[in-house]
Amino acid sequence: MALEAKGEGPAIGIDLGTTYSCVGVWQHDRVEIIANDQGNRTTPSYVAFTNIGRLIGDAAKNQATINPTNSVFDAKRLIGRKFSDACVKSDMKLWPFKIRGVGDKPMIVINNKNEKKQFAAEEISSMVLNNMREIAEAYLGLTIKNVVITVPAYFNDFQRQATKDAGVIAGMNVMRILNEPTAAAIAYGLDKKATTIGGKNVLIFDLGGGTFDVSLLKIEDEIFEVKATAGDTHLGGEDFDNRMVHHFVQEFEKKHWKDISNDPKALRRLRTSCERAKRTLSSTAETTIEIDSLFEGIDFHSKITRAKFEELNMDLFRKCMETVENCVRDAKIDREIVDDIVLVGGSTRIPKVQQLLQDLFNGKELCKSINPDEAVAYGAAVQAAVLRGGVEKVQDLLLLDVTPLSLGRMLHTGEFDVFIPRNTTIPTKKIKMATTIVQNQIGLIVDVYEGEETRAEKNKSLGQFVLEGIPPGPKGKPQITICFEIDANGTLIVSAEEKRLHLKKKVTISNYRGGLSEVEIEKMIKEAEKYKLEGQEYNEKVKAKSALETEEHRL
Ligand code: AMP
Repeated sequence: MALEAKGEGPAIGIDLGTTYSCVGVWQHDRVEIIANDQGNRTTPSYVAFTNIGRLIGDAAKNQATINPTNSVFDAKRLIGRKFSDACVKSDMKLWPFKIRGVGDKPMIVINNKNEKKQFAAEEISSMVLNNMREIAEAYLGLTIKNVVITVPAYFNDFQRQATKDAGVIAGMNVMRILNEPTAAAIAYGLDKKATTIGGKNVLIFDLGGGTFDVSLLKIEDEIFEVKATAGDTHLGGEDFDNRMVHHFVQEFEKKHWKDISNDPKALRRLRTSCERAKRTLSSTAETTIEIDSLFEGIDFHSKITRAKFEELNMDLFRKCMETVENCVRDAKIDREIVDDIVLVGGSTRIPKVQQLLQDLFNGKELCKSINPDEAVAYGAAVQAAVLRGGVEKVQDLLLLDVTPLSLGRMLHTGEFDVFIPRNTTIPTKKIKMATTIVQNQIGLIVDVYEGEETRAEKNKSLGQFVLEGIPPGPKGKPQITICFEIDANGTLIVSAEEKRLHLKKKVTISNYRGGLSEVEIEKMIKEAEKYKLEGQEYNEKVKAKSALETEEHRL
């Protein structure tokens, strides 16, 4: 292990989930999913600020009910987004912690030791990533620097860049940002490699805590090609929890004539109980909810059946199936030639979801051999090993990824001119010619958009630049080459060039707008180190205190 002798340790794969995260490493010719200090193989993506210090993971989630406004989760819903985004506005209503807009950047406001502090989503995610790294370091007894982090397939450039920034703030070298379904496919492909003869069409159905992703992949000769992806940024286990929460809020109102929907602490406690009940209902037909002194001293005891849970969520389950149908249609294949359907994400344990999916494919058996909570981290760990090198068994796997949305520019008519259609395998490069449209035009505006609408304005603006310096003259003379290029990390570079006039301008979208500046990242790295030190001091204090208590016990 020459690489480890250099002091950098192996590369790890982290599935940075909305609700839970998971870390894996390639070791002894296979992937090892690493359990945290509580023995859990997935860790809540939670960070809490308390009077005694900062807590991350299980410790943070476990105290969330008593410290709701300072317990942060769902950072993945905010990362790379603007404060003015409609989804941020609607998500905020469900969170017990505060968000405020600084410029147009959403900042999480917490109270740390009686002092108001605000954090970017990147910082919160960096704390989660660092915790996952520490879990791996504790297990391996090595320092780890290199990491592959996964993101949903529908993440745009800003969200990918912000996730990468989170890794940098945590002091890691982010070797690659990988699509979650691709990671799951890698895990799956490797599992079945020995038995795969000829090409296989595999549908990855990933229903997690907060996100839903469907992908159709072609696996052939150790090559994974993503044929199509579809998904929903806001569909998953948390929505199923919310439906149950809403049901019980109504029940409480009916029983006690009291509305608990404005009490964040009561809601949080109810949500925790609902999530537990939901999990139980995946294996039993009925369960109970028992919360003492939920609101104004009133105890809340109730029951819920699996049938009721299914009824509350049936429209959401059906929506999932429609997305599957769209994905298969996009891939331009018949449902009948889908060879395997792979379940990923904790919510695929829900029996009704499995049944509807199976029915959609005429009763086809579903692949459940890979643990649904771990498949993404598994694939990320394989990819990390491939990129780190020195791993013969997986070295020859060529891994392909696709663009989640179409990319192009606005024409002078306002139309969206697509350069790279969605679901194009990356890396990719597309070139088109352009020219001036009026006499004496001295510049060409390149307005870059992402989306599927025919009018550019209805899509998401990613950036803009002007190719200046065109000498005044008749229209249609300059020959301007416009190039859209996406590298393996999903970073978009758009350039415009007029060779004869020696004019060239380009823009790298991932660093263009919305993301953090280097100075900001540097500042956050310093902050992160400060917190890490505080954490160490705190751990030592706890150790010293428990040593003292043990001592006292003996006396
Ligand atoms: P993930 O993002 O893949 O880690 O998925 C976590 C989600 O899966 C959470 O919303 C959990 O509540 C949900 N989940 C985990 N286990 C079960 C289960 N047995 N039945 C239903 N949902 C589950």
